[in-house]
Amino acid sequence: PHRQGRPSPVPRVLAIAGSDSGGGAGLQADLKTFQELETYGTCVVTALTAQNSLGVQRVSAVPATLVADQLESVLADIGTDAAKTGMLPTADIVAAVASAIRRHGVDRLVVDPVRTATAGTALVNDEAFGALRDILLPLAALVTPNVPEACALLGVREDEVRTLDERESAARALLGLGPRAVLLKGGHAAGDECVDVLVGADGGTRFFAAPRLPTRHTHGTGCTLAAAAAACLARGHSAAEACGTAKAFVAAAIARAVPLGRGAGPLWHAA
Ligand code: PLP
Repeated sequence: PHRQGRPSPVPRVLAIAGSDSGGGAGLQADLKTFQELETYGTCVVTALTAQNSLGVQRVSAVPATLVADQLESVLADIGTDAAKTGMLPTADIVAAVASAIRRHGVDRLVVDPVRTATAGTALVNDEAFGALRDILLPLAALVTPNVPEACALLGVREDEVRTLDERESAARALLGLGPRAVLLKGGHAAGDECVDVLVGADGGTRFFAAPRLPTRHTHGTGCTLAAAAAACLARGHSAAEACGTAKAFVAAAIARAVPLGRGAGPLWHAA
């Protein structure tokens, strides 16, 4: 398989993400996940958040030129076998990321189309989300939206994407935006099971199910799933294998989530 840069003694994975001071989501979740899956994690910081179990108190974007410099530092020397993007707060940052990914030939890219925190705070502005759809999705090996993110990308209402059939159709429609595979997650849908739908350019559909656990300590699930999938792609696994492993990793992390703080506690990232 194609490897960016020189051959590496260990699978390398790059997180391009925002910092969560609370340690449950964002680049902290990504790096913990990479380590647990025995890959070498690097990280390009796109934003700082002051955040805890109660919510996001403050957000500040990193200048796009500094994001570009971090990308160059990592990719021109260490290289990477896969990358994942999380919080990309401005359109300039999205453009810097797309440019570096293209220039360095990173072909195993997982895009987690982050928009708002579960607590409701916007993490990404509308222009950035539009830029992600238009210039980053066509570069993605896998995109991992939840239902609200999928609806925002497609410009449809959430009540139009409720049943499993509707979710499969929405996932197929997202393939039209250019990614090679789409994992539409079922965490925001109803039901005792959380069923994620994977569709790929090969035409097949796969479903990944896990019981819905009765806990509110699910902070960081989206970041963790995309990070685990990227670690698997770095190992050379297919998108389907990567999604299966990532789903199991997140289910275990939710089952062991720790009720730290007074609000929604973080996952326990352990393989
Ligand atoms: N903080 C950062 C930096 C994130 O990237 C994300 C999600 O991607 C969140 C917070 C939100 O996490 P959650 O919605 O799981 O609370």
